[in-house]
Formats: sequence, C-alpha cells, structure tokens
Amino acid sequence: TQQSIMQQERLRALGQMASGIAHDINNAISPVALYAESLLETEKNLSVKGRNYLEVISRAIDDVAATVARMREFYRQRAPQLTLLPVDVNSLVQQVIDLTRARWSDMPQQRGIVINVHAELAPDLPDIMGVHGEIREALTNLIFNAVDAMPEGGGLTVRTSVVQDWSGSSKEIIVKQVNIDVCDTGVGMSDDTKRRCLEPFFTTKGERGTGLGLAMVYGMIERHSAHIEILTEIGKGTTMRMSFLVPATVSEVARLPAPDAIPTKR
Ligand code: ADP
Repeated sequence: TQQSIMQQERLRALGQMASGIAHDINNAISPVALYAESLLETEKNLSVKGRNYLEVISRAIDDVAATVARMREFYRQRAPQLTLLPVDVNSLVQQVIDLTRARWSDMPQQRGIVINVHAELAPDLPDIMGVHGEIREALTNLIFNAVDAMPEGGGLTVRTSVVQDWSGSSKEIIVKQVNIDVCDTGVGMSDDTKRRCLEPFFTTKGERGTGLGLAMVYGMIERHSAHIEILTEIGKGTTMRMSFLVPATVSEVARLPAPDAIPTKR
C-alpha cells in the first residue's frame, strides 16, 4: 500500500542518515576516547580532580559508542533476499515466553506487582515461512511493550490462531493466515500514538524509550510480506496482531475453523 511504501522510504532515508551520523560520531569520539584512556593509564601525577574528570569523559564516550553501535545494528543492511525456512510458531512463542521471563515475572515482582502470562496455542498450526530470529526478536519487542504498558500489573496473553483469508479468491490455492496476537490489559494507546507508533524514534516513554521496538517489528513484517494490526482502547489494553500468509489447498481450508472476531483486511 501507499502508506507502507512511504514507511519503507522513510526507513531507508533514516537508515542512510543514521549511518552517516554514526560514521561522523565515531570519527569524532575516537581521539577523545583514546587520549582520555591513555592519560588515565600512563599519567602518574594526575590530580584527583583531573582523574575524576577523565573518568567522567571516558564513561560518557563509552555510552556514546554503545548508542552508535545500537544504531548501526538497527540499520545495518539486512540481506535483501531473506532465506525463509519453515517456522513452528507455537514452539517459537513458548521459547520467547521463557526467554522473556525475567522481564514479566521477576522484575514486576520486585516492584510488588503481578503480570499473569498465558499462552493460548492453536492446535495443528501450520508452519509459516520465515526467519526464526527475526520473528523471535519482534515477538520479544511486543512482549516488552505489553509489560511496559502494565505498570500496575495485569494480564498478558500470547495467542496463536489460523484462519482462512477473507479475500482468498483463487480456486486452487486459498490463502490461510497464521496469527500471533500479543494482548495486554494495559494503558492502551491514544489515536495519535496508534497512528505513529510504528515510526522509528516515536516513543511516549521519554528517556527510557528508543522508539525503535515497533519500527523493528514493522521491518520484519515487511520483509515477510506479513501484516500487523493494532487494536487498542485507552484504559483497557492493546492487542498487537502479526499475520503471516500460508498457502493452503482447498481441502485443507474446508477443515479450518471459521475466521475469528478480528478479520484482517488485506
Ligand atoms: P519504545 O518502547 O522504546 O517507546 P516502540 O517502538 O516499541 O518504542 O513503541 C512506540 C510507542 O508505542 C511506545 O512508546 C508506546 O507509546 C506505544 N506502545 C507500543 N506498544 C504498546 C502497548 N502494548 N500498549 C500501549 N502502548 C504501546
């Protein structure tokens, strides 16, 4: 669609700008880092104040270098032609829930709140074609966002489902769709946030946010020719739905359950 082409263009332009900036910053900070380090290591007669200042400089430069590295990582050119392999979505979901446990279980408990996590996995889910690592990363981002949206605790459900695509018109091959929903009972999004949340660097989390989580998710979605849908209500919660297309034969489709409550326009 027009909107996704614009989003792609914007990402590309931002990527070029970001890598130019990263390069300049690296050039600018490397002598600072080098001389600060070397003074700290070799100067025996530094005053306490001088040493303190150099340590502050050194730490600040380390932070800048780490930010630049993250920025580069985000925009590094991914192979244009992805190698798509069959991905078992249910086991991927289970894996990500386990991997993110610290964030939704241990950390909230330390703050005295409870986040209940459930996986509702559809039986007989067909494999999708994709890049396991990218989908795992995207799901991780969605789970982290859901947790952030529930500062007072709440419920997080990761649900998988399979539906026949509404617009599947061909007689031979009908398209099936595998959905991964991440539902939270959190704060929800305003209309403005919903509209802008996929944009790189858009965040409502101030210092704590990078605004890159959903931009990454969106990149994965585009590379997989998949689809993302946001259902959200202020004060009620948010469902982020990722939909992947799977070709299916007519006879297979006949056995599918009826499409559920949230049909996806394609
Ligand atoms: P970040 O998490 O660093 O802010 P993201 O790109 O992941 O960056 O998210 C962008 C914004 O979208 C968030 O700052 C938040 O306002 C909104 N958002 C994302 N997920 C949710 C959610 N599950 N509930 C409410 N708001 C969300």
